[in-house]
Amino acid sequence: MPVLRFKAMEEVLNRTVRKVELPSVKTSDYYGVNVFNHQKMQSYLSKEAFQEVESAVKEGKKIDRAIANQIASGMKAWAVDRGATHYTHWFQPLTGATAEKHDAFFEPTGDGGALENFQGELLVQQEPDASSFPNGGIRNTFEARGYTAWDPSSPAFVIDHTLCIPTIFVSYTGEALDYKTPLLKSNAALDNAAKKVMKFFDKDVKKVYATLGWEQEYFLVDEALFHARPDLMLTGRTLMGHASAKDQQLDDHYFGAIPERVTAFMYEFEMESLKLGIPVKTRHNEVAPNQFECAPVFEEVNLAIDHNQLVMAVMERVAQKHKFRILFHEKPFAKVNGSGKHNNWSLATDTGVNLLSPGKNPKSNLRFLAFVINSMKAVHDHSSLLRASIMSAGNEHRLGANEAPPAIISVFLGSRLNEMLKIIEESVTEKKMSPDKKTELKMDIGRIPEILLDNTDRNRTSPFAFTGNRFEFRAVGSSQNCASPMIALNSAMANQLNTFYSDVQELIEKGLKKDEAIFQVLKKYIIETKKIIYDGNGYSDEWVKEAEKRGLSNISDVPTAHAAFISKETVKLFEDLKVLSKRELEARYEIRMETYNKKIQIESRVLGDMAINHIIPTAIKYQNILIENVRGMRDLLDDKDFDRQAGLQLKTLKIISGHISNIREKVDAMITERKIANKIESELEKTHAYSKDVKPFLESIRRHIDKLEMIIDDEMWTFPKYREILFIS
Ligand code: ADP
Ligand code: MG
Repeated sequence: MPVLRFKAMEEVLNRTVRKVELPSVKTSDYYGVNVFNHQKMQSYLSKEAFQEVESAVKEGKKIDRAIANQIASGMKAWAVDRGATHYTHWFQPLTGATAEKHDAFFEPTGDGGALENFQGELLVQQEPDASSFPNGGIRNTFEARGYTAWDPSSPAFVIDHTLCIPTIFVSYTGEALDYKTPLLKSNAALDNAAKKVMKFFDKDVKKVYATLGWEQEYFLVDEALFHARPDLMLTGRTLMGHASAKDQQLDDHYFGAIPERVTAFMYEFEMESLKLGIPVKTRHNEVAPNQFECAPVFEEVNLAIDHNQLVMAVMERVAQKHKFRILFHEKPFAKVNGSGKHNNWSLATDTGVNLLSPGKNPKSNLRFLAFVINSMKAVHDHSSLLRASIMSAGNEHRLGANEAPPAIISVFLGSRLNEMLKIIEESVTEKKMSPDKKTELKMDIGRIPEILLDNTDRNRTSPFAFTGNRFEFRAVGSSQNCASPMIALNSAMANQLNTFYSDVQELIEKGLKKDEAIFQVLKKYIIETKKIIYDGNGYSDEWVKEAEKRGLSNISDVPTAHAAFISKETVKLFEDLKVLSKRELEARYEIRMETYNKKIQIESRVLGDMAINHIIPTAIKYQNILIENVRGMRDLLDDKDFDRQAGLQLKTLKIISGHISNIREKVDAMITERKIANKIESELEKTHAYSKDVKPFLESIRRHIDKLEMIIDDEMWTFPKYREILFIS
């Protein structure tokens, strides 16, 4: 009977590179053709309707129902021109994926004909039957309605003949059931707080918004090999597999030449993305074999998040056309690097200033330092929330595993910036400063730009690193919706800027000059938060020890980390800013726990099945061959030769038996633990049980399987091996 693994490998070796049609026009000619953007709105909408959308986007104004009809009809006309037959509200429920339900534009007219119809009310609001989306107990069964409502700040787009309208998703009682609702609220909170602070620096600023540039890492696996691995298919990661003799030791994959089949895939998904107005710009190989990265030009955070969600969907589809499967899982393969999604984050003003970019004169540098130090304080005060926002069953494998930022939240600033902070910290206040010192200080502030633009001062082991004109939140998981960390970061920053404003105001009222008041408050913040600054190697053991001495927490398991979602500080933060209510937070917390438990449960079941149905039978077959072989030796050899030669075989037999019985016993014990865990009522207790009592079996069972993989006849092994999955393309 042929082993599926060999059929799969044959299929892979016979693959041809998919031909991708090169468009005859420049990228700029097709960029955004599938987006109902500014330009298209201008030509498809009346002046009145256009202005209504504009002010909804710019000032967050509600759209008038009557005008919504005009907008809907313009949007429909454009979409039909782009070949759309259907429309859908496109939203981001707490499953982490995106959701859509398609309806056709056409409507029978009653006289045998039909016309394309799309009313304002269908654009603005819909009521999807949403009872099976996670809600964490918010939606009672008797009131299972959920609403989606248009988010005009993210433009509609056409994909696969369907007009997609980005929307928020809330319950009948108005509670958020998605990522977008709290994100938009956190954006508003940040805007308000930052605008207030900007009064100290530049009165012309009317809007401040967060910018996000994500870097998406992923693996590509051939479709046939993927299908021969139930673990990849059902859990997105390999639950077994001995390390390949060669993987990433030689660092020969990073930035290496991209294989032709992969280039064809990249080219096609980038083209599709560009048509959707997603400014994908960078592509390269990553550290692990078959691992790659793509990054766009940064955008306003809400749009950037929609684009990341969309790009992941596009990549998944295009990968299949190229007979690949894309893995967004944080740790698809043991012992080679996992995947992250770095979130480059900054604040920008409507006057075109990046607030985390060093200025050209002492005054703008004070503004720069204020925003950097406030970011630092925000991260310091809400580090547990930030960690919780990026923790998941998948990311749990990466954080603190010597390849990704540790589960200790610290901030990297770089030597120049640290020098600056030291000067501020050690400075006496302006009143007590000699004129010389004052000039020296101003000069130091003035020197920042040239020095900081030196890009070599980078740290790739810090979870939160300053990179010259932005912070890079590097600990985010590759499969995550960026909204979760961005909601946390925006809110922490908004809250911090509010505090900063009142702290400065208080000193001004006491009679201090504005700049000195700012200076003093910043100095106080530096002293309060400097324990979070770490510029050394974040992956090292010294840092773990040092962080402990500094009193920084190091939490790398989901149930403990997630407690921060419902801590007093988090509830206060989100309630004060009106981003999420206590009930909404509790619901989100429940959902995270539930998701974690289900994921570990599925992994545990899949591993159990693979071990019992594949690994043990294969091991027994091989054992029988060895037994036959020993029997034959006994017939042929004299006693002395037999003892010597069969001895080794008998030893191997024993080793195999040992692994088989270990696997059996452990699978049984794991099932028992699962049964115990499943009976636990409290979701939190259950999560602890899954994390402490079930999850460790995944590792210990796998160890035996991986050992068997090295002993058993290669021809009998049913699952594609690491060396095949990771290197064949
Ligand atoms: P690296 O791998 O060196 O960090 P990349 O070029 O891969 O650099 O990614 C850098 C990302 O940072 C890009 O997505 C880029 O658009 C983004 N970025 C640059 N400036 C900003 C900013 N002001 N705000 C947010 N993101 C930014
Ligand atoms: Mg980066």
